[in-house]
Order: sequence, then C-alpha cells, then structure tokens
Amino acid sequence: MKEFRGFVGKEGRPKNVGIYVHVPFCLSKCHYCDFCSVTGADGSKKDAYVSRICSEIGDFADKIKQTGELPQTDTVYFGGGTPTLMSAGQFARILEAVESNFGISAGAEITAECNPRSIGLEGLSDLRGLGVNRLSIGMQSIHDSELRVLGRIHGSGDFLETYGAARKAGFDNISVDLMYGIPNQTRETLKKSVEGLAMLAPEHISSYALTVEEGTNFHRRRDSLDLPDEDTVSDMYDDMGEILAKYGYHKYEISNFSKKGRESRHNLKYWTYGNYLGFGSAAHSYFDGVRFAHSRDIDAYIEGKCTIIDVEPIGKREAMNEYVMLGMRLSEGIDILDFKARFGEDFLCIFDKIKQYSLDFVEITDKKCRFTEKGTFVSNSILSDVLDFGE
Ligand code: SF4
Repeated sequence: MKEFRGFVGKEGRPKNVGIYVHVPFCLSKCHYCDFCSVTGADGSKKDAYVSRICSEIGDFADKIKQTGELPQTDTVYFGGGTPTLMSAGQFARILEAVESNFGISAGAEITAECNPRSIGLEGLSDLRGLGVNRLSIGMQSIHDSELRVLGRIHGSGDFLETYGAARKAGFDNISVDLMYGIPNQTRETLKKSVEGLAMLAPEHISSYALTVEEGTNFHRRRDSLDLPDEDTVSDMYDDMGEILAKYGYHKYEISNFSKKGRESRHNLKYWTYGNYLGFGSAAHSYFDGVRFAHSRDIDAYIEGKCTIIDVEPIGKREAMNEYVMLGMRLSEGIDILDFKARFGEDFLCIFDKIKQYSLDFVEITDKKCRFTEKGTFVSNSILSDVLDFGE
C-alpha cells in the first residue's frame, strides 16, 4: 500500500473513521447485479476471506499509526453481496479486529446488509448480541412478479418474515432498499410498494433507480426488456417522495429517506467528505485526501496478493469540488463553516458564481448552502457552472 499523503485539512486528520467491509457472497445472482459477489462459496472460503479481512485491518491500522494519530471507528458497515451469509462467529471476528485495532466508539452505528431468506430469527438475535444495531434489508419491491423479473430469490412473504424477525431480535433501526424503473413496473405498482413499505414504518428507506449495467443478465437481454421510459421513471421518483413525506419521512439525500434522527451515519460520511476505510474485494476508501480501491478479484484478495488499485491523491481544488458536489446531494446542503475549517478558504469566494442562483435555486445563509426544491431539478447544470474544473 502506498503511503497516505495528500490534503488533510487545516485541523488535521479527523478523529473518527467509518469502516466498510465488503462481503461478496450471495445465494444466487440477481439479473441486474454488477456488484462484486459470487455464489456457492463454502464455509472454508468464507473463513479464509474473513481471516484476510482481519489481517488487512491490522495492517492498515499499523500503516496509519506511522503517519499520525489513529482515528476511532464510529460507524461500521457490512455491505455486499449478502453479509448475512456469514456466520455470527465470522461477524464477531471482524468486529473484534476493528475493535482491537481501531477501537469502536460508544454508540457507534454498526450496520449489516441483509437479504430475505439469508438469515432467520436466531441469526439476527446473534447479530444484535454482537452489537450490530442497524439492519439494511433488500426488499426492492413488494410485488412477487417484479421480484421474479429482477431475479431475486425471495418473495414478499420472505421479506415480511425477515422484517418481523429483525424487530423481534431487537433491531429498532431498520433500513429497507426499494427499487424503481423495474421492467414492467408501473407508477401504480410502485406506489403500492412504497405505501406497503411505509405502513411497516422502517426507520430508513433507500431508493435505487434500476440501471442496466454491462455484464449483467439484463444487459444481455436489454433489447427485450420492457423498461419504463425516462419520464415515467422521473414521475416514479416524485410519487415516491410524495408518499413517503405523507408517512413522515424526510428526504435527507437525493435517494435516501428517513425518520428524523435516523439518517445513515455511515453514508453521511460519504456525502460530507469524511474519512472511511474499505476492506475486502472491491471496497473503496478515502483517507487523508487519498482515494483507493481494492480489485474485484476475490481469490487474489484471499491469497493476500496486493489488490489495492487506483490510488489517487486528491489535490485541494479537486477536494473542494468534490466536497461541494457530494454535499449538495444533501437536503441540508453543505456546511460553510466546515468548508472553511477544512480548506482554510471562504466557500463563497471560491465558488462565488453560486450567488447568482441565490433565492430561486439556492439558499445561502451564514452557515449553509443548499438547493431549494426548484433548484434540485436543475442541480446538475448549476453545479457544472459553479464548479471550477480548471488546473
Ligand atoms: S443479492 Fe444484491 S449483491 Fe447479491 S446478487 Fe442480488 S443484487 Fe447482487
């Protein structure tokens, strides 16, 4: 691994870090999926993968210690793949590696992604007992016909069973994934999915517009897919926002809705330009102004070959641009004071063009800058005008 260099900010390295662990195991491959995941891994392969993650966590902590103070972990996120195909013992080993190397702060948010049919009440209770306090369940749709089109192996009944088991196991912070733009989906069927889900009252809902990615089953069949057109997809997005608002959800990020105080603290790190370290195949990191990623080669990762790719130190100008691009995704917008503390620059001097959009499209106060409702519809063109891609 290369040395951490790059832009750290006026106040130095942040005291906290988020840790992402990629678990690339699934029961079967969904038709739209281009994530790094494999099917059919047995217990010994998973064990070997977990061992590699644990030793990599130790290696990173040692490297970071050489360059300054070790930050503490305040969010851990097990993503995938299907993390809940790991045993409780395997989760425990990873959490122990994080705790012994970085420390996990009191009240840390610890999330595991979970797919219906991958885990039952006992397994969920074990996870809760280990300190996992947030569950993110892949529902996608409430209609079995849409789930079949997507190649999901679960039906709506399986989702309800997992959701109920999670509540019973003591999870009081549940997020659910919902997809729109599915082949054959209509505004009406989406509305039913959204209403049905909102009535269950999960604390958080993440929405995803389906995209047909190369290398997927959908891509091979792309000419025969009956996808909703662009306008319908955009209407679906609006419908979803309207229904969720009625049920007390606030849209705190372009695609994410939550009850007050239940925003994803881990994902907020991505949008507020916080430090995060990713472990496992295909995991991405951003630390001390350097971005890097692991390759998707799971076997090479297990064998301990150097799989860090795309090491990219970010210059100050680029960092400021990215900070604004990511932060403006949030309905709160960006924190002008935090910008000053990090970069030692005045946000409105650096991005003075943004003032011309003030009132109608952008709301600017002493502390915040954010898009108005009207501004969100033209956010891309405003950002491309305001951000400076020179140098
Ligand atoms: S469960 Fe998720 S990661 Fe696994 S194949 Fe389906 S979409 Fe991909």
